Amino acid sequence: MNALIEKAKKYHNLTKDEICELLSNDNSKENLFKAADEVRKTYVGDEVHLRALIEFTNICRCNCHYCGLRRDNKNIERYRLSKEEILDFSRNAVGLGFKTIVLQGGEDMFFTCEYLGDIIKEIKKYNVAITLSIGERSKEEYQFLKNCGADRFLLRIETTDEKLYSKYHPQMTLKNRKECLYNIKKAGFEVGSGCLVGLPGQTVKSLAEDILFFKELDADMIGIGPFIPHANTPLKNAAGKDFWLALKVMAVTRLLMPDINIPATTAMETLTPNGRIIALQSGANVVMPNMTQGDYRKKYEIYPGKICINDKPDKCKACISQKIISIGRTVSQGYGFRKNRS
Ligand code: SAH
Ligand code: SF4
Repeated sequence: MNALIEKAKKYHNLTKDEICELLSNDNSKENLFKAADEVRKTYVGDEVHLRALIEFTNICRCNCHYCGLRRDNKNIERYRLSKEEILDFSRNAVGLGFKTIVLQGGEDMFFTCEYLGDIIKEIKKYNVAITLSIGERSKEEYQFLKNCGADRFLLRIETTDEKLYSKYHPQMTLKNRKECLYNIKKAGFEVGSGCLVGLPGQTVKSLAEDILFFKELDADMIGIGPFIPHANTPLKNAAGKDFWLALKVMAVTRLLMPDINIPATTAMETLTPNGRIIALQSGANVVMPNMTQGDYRKKYEIYPGKICINDKPDKCKACISQKIISIGRTVSQGYGFRKNRS
């Protein structure tokens, strides 16, 4: 097993079977995390990039079986921020020192590209990078949003397992999801993707295929989220919550894609106290603190038990910065692009 880890560390390549072996083995996980931490240090250094997450709408036209924001969940109070609120939250994050604003939301078609474009242009005046995480749009729309000044786009593939994908995503297709990712790339965005770990029926083999897909896509950012079951969804009785498997998928991704950005995800912290710090010491180099204000945080309930729902942005920024420093890392002052745009 250790020979496999050494191989991955040196050549950043493994076969599907080899990845499966690493993911299945529990005895060598500490060595795997250590190797991923070393590769992270060599390729992207000790800086941790912070991205300010603004959850601007919890309205969604999709019906993903795992997500609390799904269309058929009637047990949720829906909201959508006004342009003024989005700009206000962004300004506040910029004032706290953030160099990237992430606008994330359900697939809410009230936000037309024209409207989003206006918001992007306003935020760009603050001299920050903008990441969009707003789901599937047409090729032309992605290009329009890029031309308005957005820099990056996050769209997880969720799972590359054809059967699981169609089972958990009514009216959506894996083929279209992949096409969206390639269109995002062609439009000139830095592209972020990732998967859920621990979906019912998901195998280690399909997770290995997810990792190989990230490599094939040459993603600039990969976020791995442990699936956490939500009571108001069809997957309410599923097990999920596999922190260690998610961490292993993340660590293998770092070994195979040494120079990309990898966030320590909030879902990891939800499952394990200090989960983000453990992730930062197992290959991750990015954190996305929540900069949404007021009651909206609670209402953006993708999964239950979300951390810090009653906290304010300045507290979240201070708390995570202090934790980062306590493990001997630094908070980056740059934009944190993948490819040397500092
Ligand atoms: N609507 C956009 C962005 C918001 S959802 C999109 O889907 O791309 C952001 C991410 O939340 C999704 O990509 C999914 O991986 C994650 N997510 C949804 N439900 C979850 C759950 N129950 N547990 C953990 N992560 C979940
Ligand atoms: Fe909507 Fe995204 Fe949730 Fe799917 S995962 S229901 S697209 S918010």
